[in-house]
Amino acid sequence: MSILEKIPQLSPVLDQCAEVAGYLWQKGWAERNGGNMTYNLTDLIPEEFRNLPAISEPIPIGCRLPAIEGFWFYAKGTGRRMRDLARKPLENGSIIRILPGGEQYEIVADEPVMPTSEISSHLSLQNHLVASGSSYRATLHTHPIELVALSHIRHFCSSEELTRTLWSMIPETLAFAPLGLGFIPFECPGTVALAEATLREIGTYDVVLWEKHGTVAVGTDMMDAFDQTDVLNKSACIYREAALIKASLNFAARPEGMSDEQMKGIQELFKLPTERIK
Ligand SMILES: [Zn+2]
Repeated sequence: MSILEKIPQLSPVLDQCAEVAGYLWQKGWAERNGGNMTYNLTDLIPEEFRNLPAISEPIPIGCRLPAIEGFWFYAKGTGRRMRDLARKPLENGSIIRILPGGEQYEIVADEPVMPTSEISSHLSLQNHLVASGSSYRATLHTHPIELVALSHIRHFCSSEELTRTLWSMIPETLAFAPLGLGFIPFECPGTVALAEATLREIGTYDVVLWEKHGTVAVGTDMMDAFDQTDVLNKSACIYREAALIKASLNFAARPEGMSDEQMKGIQELFKLPTERIK
């Protein structure tokens, strides 16, 4: 019996995680098993289900996270693909519960799918959000192509330069990613150094960019974390297009278009108005 039959209020959250996973794949941000996500489900678990029996042994987190003792999370499974999660979130991810003490977790449903290998850094972020009184529930790591590309250019490798450039591309980025984009210099994936740097920057930014790797976003829900990443990446796309046009179009290469005479001929032939008709 799926946990969704016992706790149907989890369905909209899992549906949203699946929807976002589909977008990540469609955008080319989630090759193979790339990217991972967690969602804090705790508020949705009724009292009578809080002690539901586990389907795994206790698994060490690797650090102590006291703020999330007893909390429930959805996590993408290790080695699982976003494009599969988009169709079957509970076969490609699992629901876990943090054990008393905050040093271990256990899998509660639906299948014993081991969470992402990045689970300890995601849970550290969740612990930080809870401890700081945040209403945010979601963490999302993905590989947005144009943002990662910018991090290969030294000029953009600072939070200030990235934020200013991306905000300046389109008013909506300033409005919908108002905290900008934090930059984290290269560290190997899965290391404590990368997790600690992320934790430091996420206090200031909703989205951070790991140099030559990808983004980590936190948000009120999974769609919010995705939207903020998407808005910032849209600006990076516009920057790229404008830079390409500037670099490739010299005067001789400009599209020819109709000549003035040709257009005048059309205006006369069809008696087109040259002033507003009263
Ligand atoms: Zn990654």
